[in-house]
Amino acid sequence: MKKPTLSPKVYCSLFGHDYEVTKKVTEHVKEYTCTRCKKQLTTNSNGELTELTPKFREINLILERIHNSRKERLKGKAVISSIC
Ligand SMILES: [Zn+2]
Repeated sequence: MKKPTLSPKVYCSLFGHDYEVTKKVTEHVKEYTCTRCKKQLTTNSNGELTELTPKFREINLILERIHNSRKERLKGKAVISSIC
């Protein structure tokens, strides 16, 4: 007897996705990818998970840039205060 083989998409719709964090954008915003069907999610501004559309990808890139520049500035401040 042949075992029925489920495609990842069918498997996910039956048993749910198996997401793992693939990118940390900020402390609160992350990108997730399903290890089976490769569907991608992200955290939106309400803190809810939503599909990672090209628009959200763009928003995340901007968020990441702001987040990183903020971190750089904090580092700079720490250096200055340690000198003074
Ligand atoms: Zn999936």
